[in-house]
Amino acid sequence: MSADESTAGEVASAASAPRRAGGVDLGAWKGVWVNIELERGRVQPVSWELLGEGRKLADHLGVPLSGVVLGPDDDATDAAAADAIRYGADQVHVVRDPVLAHYRTDPYTKALTELVERRRPEILLLGATTLGRDLAGAVATTLGTGLTADCTELRIDDETRSLAATRPTFGGTLLCTIHTLEYRPQMATVRPRVMAMPRRDDARTGTVIAERVALSEDDVVTKILSYIPDADADKAQLAYAEVVVAGGRGLGKPENFRLVEELAQVLGGEYGGSRPVAQAGWIAAERQIGQTGKTIRPKLYIAAGISGAIQHRVGVEGADVIVAINTDAKAPIMDFATYAIVGDALQILPALTEALRERKAQRS
Ligand SMILES: Cc1cc2nc3c(=O)[nH]c(=O)nc-3n(C[C@H](O)[C@H](O)[C@H](O)COP(=O)(O)OP(=O)(O)OC[C@H]3O[C@@H](n4cnc5c(N)ncnc54)[C@H](O)[C@@H]3O)c2cc1C
Repeated sequence: MSADESTAGEVASAASAPRRAGGVDLGAWKGVWVNIELERGRVQPVSWELLGEGRKLADHLGVPLSGVVLGPDDDATDAAAADAIRYGADQVHVVRDPVLAHYRTDPYTKALTELVERRRPEILLLGATTLGRDLAGAVATTLGTGLTADCTELRIDDETRSLAATRPTFGGTLLCTIHTLEYRPQMATVRPRVMAMPRRDDARTGTVIAERVALSEDDVVTKILSYIPDADADKAQLAYAEVVVAGGRGLGKPENFRLVEELAQVLGGEYGGSRPVAQAGWIAAERQIGQTGKTIRPKLYIAAGISGAIQHRVGVEGADVIVAINTDAKAPIMDFATYAIVGDALQILPALTEALRERKAQRS
């Protein structure tokens, strides 16, 4: 059963944000844009995932796909623009300005809003990262257009030529498809790892368009006094780990969670858990997997003592191989697991860890 089949149906609605100046000539808005999120010299990989998805939308509409890079006048900004072409953009609009050296809502909103008004793309996609969510909301309200957040599917509705943006609603029990019919651009955010990473093609060519926006440091009320890196910044990212082992309430008590961590360690992967165990404090909140946690796309996902509720399933179904360890052969996870081990996770997890350790020792 797929996530769509498990829902009661599809709901469509039209965004009804007020337009700042009269009606919109829909025909004047053309092209698909993806915000390439560049922060401290690093592009958030979700930007490439969105270019992959944007490519499909642009091809369906028969319009160009553009990246937009906002950043300081340095090599990282140039590299981000060049990479956007390698990941599928036909052209990249670049604003280079020292005011854009660090993300701040005001100048980024001004730059993106002005570019959108100047070039008029019909669709604008942003990653649902901390910065992307902030920027998307500010740009949508400034432009007075519709924004659909945390989408799980994007497609073009042939009848209306509009973006059909699907996202979970009502606590994840229903998928809702939202169209912005009367306003442009149609905006959507997508969380990291929800869309597949496109293949990078170093031979691709495209156009880089240098854009000018009048930005002044004096107009920005927020000042960056110093930068304190997140203590966890160097930790492997759960969302991008190739192997993830997760535990759920079936593990019984927090002390048993070390069995999950040990298996993850021997496999060279990351560990996570279901919402109840995150809420109970067995694991850090950032390790929660699912609709209200991280979306993952590992090559291997091992879920021990996790029932596989729909809110968990939507966060893991992009995994290549799912192994479920559960005492209940009829648990929902058995419907979408690649391999099911029916049994007690408290016995199976250490047995797997031991067997893998032995195998590793034999190889070395
Ligand atoms: C708005 C909303 C958002 C949510 N977001 C998320 C989310 O992001 N992520 C998420 O995970 N959940 C989320 N949930 C909660 C979700 O609905 C489930 O309640 C939750 O996923 C269940 O967690 P669980 O599988 O660990 O626990 P349970 O549902 O209690 O399942 C425990 C499983 O362990 C098995 N088991 C018991 N003992 C053993 C054993 N010894 N060995 C092996 N198996 C055993 C049982 O058979 C059972 O299948 C959300 C819910 C709502 C309403």
